[in-house]
Amino acid sequence: MTWGTLMSRAHGMCEFCGGMDDCLPVEVEGAGEILICSICDGDPPVEHWRCLESAAKSDVPEVQVAVWRKLGEIGEPWAAEIRSTMQLSPEARALV
Ligand SMILES: [Zn+2]
Repeated sequence: MTWGTLMSRAHGMCEFCGGMDDCLPVEVEGAGEILICSICDGDPPVEHWRCLESAAKSDVPEVQVAVWRKLGEIGEPWAAEIRSTMQLSPEARALV
C-alpha cells in the first residue's frame, strides 16, 4: 500500500485513536499496514487504549486485526469487553 492510499483511507488520522500527531505506517504482521500516531506507537498509559472502543468499529480488516491483538495484550476487563463486542470481517477473522 502506498503512503497516499494509506493516508486517504485513514483520513490522515491515527487508526487507533484519531490523533493527528506524527502519524506513521505500522506493519500489522500478516495483515498489512495501518496508520498510527506517535502516542499509540509509544508506550501510552493503559487508559489511552480506551480509544480502541471506537477503533474496534472500523471496517478496515487491518485495523480490526491490530485492535484485536492490542486488546488481547491489555489485561483490563474493559479491554476484554470491547473485544467481545467486535464484529470481525471474514478477512480479519482469518488472521487473528
Ligand atoms: Zn493514536
